[in-house]
Amino acid sequence: MKTNFKKELLIAKKGGYAIPAFNFDNMEMLKGIIEAAEEKKSPVILMVTESAALYMGVDYVFSLGRKAVELSSVPVILHWDHGFDIDLIKRAIDSGFDSVMLDSSAKPFAINVEETKKVVEYAHKHGVCVESEIGHVGGKEDDRESNSQQYTNIKDAIEFNKQTNVDALAIAAGTAHGIYKTKPDLQFKLIEDIVESMETPIVLHGSSGVPLIDLKKAIKLGITKINIGTDLKVANANAVREWLVTNKDGYDARKFGKAAIDAVKLAAIEKIVAFNSQDKANNR
Ligand SMILES: [Zn+2]
Repeated sequence: MKTNFKKELLIAKKGGYAIPAFNFDNMEMLKGIIEAAEEKKSPVILMVTESAALYMGVDYVFSLGRKAVELSSVPVILHWDHGFDIDLIKRAIDSGFDSVMLDSSAKPFAINVEETKKVVEYAHKHGVCVESEIGHVGGKEDDRESNSQQYTNIKDAIEFNKQTNVDALAIAAGTAHGIYKTKPDLQFKLIEDIVESMETPIVLHGSSGVPLIDLKKAIKLGITKINIGTDLKVANANAVREWLVTNKDGYDARKFGKAAIDAVKLAAIEKIVAFNSQDKANNR
């Protein structure tokens, strides 16, 4: 069912849980995510990146995403993840996305502010929420590689929030996108200070591969949206690989597809339980 991004995040903050935000790259991943959320009665954020949308076809993705929102028995937020292209972001807004993220975090502060304000103005006019990022979460994000990792500066975060009126703010606090090459080192004090400095919900990106105990600690400090992409990609790929290796003569896409759905569902359930969002679908 349809719901409001910011409203859900504020409810989560009060309730001491985080809403899992999962990326999907194909229909099997989408089905695994929705089945997990429905089984665990959890609200969920269903995310598409630009490159995933271009892979599936922008119009197919819009239709699939909207159907998932409409047919699901739990609150589902359809979210445009890591938008770099403002025209595509506007297209997502026009086509019924509930929230969009603009990622201008690699650009200078003033430009990040200016571009975010532009997106906020357009989105709010259409009743759509906006997430933006301050500081820079490095790693591999949506086919873009970035080796720089710049922790969010708290003064910048406060100023950015004030100037842009965003609905959620992604911060760089020790996580990275993609597969971790070194151990993630979460900056808990920084997370705590930023959460306490504003009403605006705070988001953690690059959370695949981060020990669940660390994510739980971040939720206790007030993180309300946690992005998971890679962990579901890995679950999906491993399931297909295993099925094909086991069934040497197998060729039925529905069979290895089902294995993928089940594996993604299992991986999603693990996060839902850890984020404490299970049984929160009717928490309003
Ligand atoms: Zn991200």
